[in-house]
Amino acid sequence: MLTFNDLIVAFETLGLQNKPVIAHASLHSFGRVEGGADSVITSLMYTTGAFIMPTHTYKTMVTPASGPANNAVNYTRGQQWNRLSEPYRPDMPADRMMGVIPDSIRHWPEAARSMHPILSFSGIRADKILKSQTIEEPFAPLRALVEQDGWVMLIGVDHTVNTSIHFAEKLAGRKQFVRWALTESGTVTCPGFPGCSAGFQVIEPEVRSFTKSVKVGEATVLALPLRALMIRVIELIKKDRYALLCDRSDCERCGEVRKM
Ligand SMILES: [Zn+2]
Repeated sequence: MLTFNDLIVAFETLGLQNKPVIAHASLHSFGRVEGGADSVITSLMYTTGAFIMPTHTYKTMVTPASGPANNAVNYTRGQQWNRLSEPYRPDMPADRMMGVIPDSIRHWPEAARSMHPILSFSGIRADKILKSQTIEEPFAPLRALVEQDGWVMLIGVDHTVNTSIHFAEKLAGRKQFVRWALTESGTVTCPGFPGCSAGFQVIEPEVRSFTKSVKVGEATVLALPLRALMIRVIELIKKDRYALLCDRSDCERCGEVRKM
């Protein structure tokens, strides 16, 4: 079983003590960890300057009767799921698909959460980064991280969950979508919603030369400087406008990007 100390020793080798970080993590990837998610969070507190993780809440999403065309939404079919939607609350748990680690951050007294009813981030010592988020610019925290020479950590996960690639897609001019969220004060229109990330793993060989890596237990932990990642993604999309899209023929969002 891995201990808290094993995690600290491994994370320290990445040299992120003074850097703000966006982390994506799978607890399961390590094998067994003494103290579970809390040990991973405490290790990140010791070994990074600040960190945020996505605590997205897709269960707030609703579909209106009509909306923009070419938006990868079937308005008629989508509405039948509206009765399952829940209004966003700041203490709403992150979706289970985000993993147990991001949701555990919220229980830390010094943790903060950003404001978006679907695409929120939670973090520690990152209040200014989290406060930069708006409804119009859901990925503003990533902009703030790039400006502060931030890094991304992929802890036992691959680039298909690397949210920062979505921000680079937006900077490269790729199509963004509109979605809607239920809140306690009514339905909120959320522009700047990203496309699909299922094809993102093809970035791996492109960024390998500046990716740091360390093995801890059964997990591989990767760390990449955000600015270099952004530049590489933008170069790829400029060269091939279909770069990083997935192969599924029925993928609505990748389909809309291809149509542009
Ligand atoms: Zn896709």
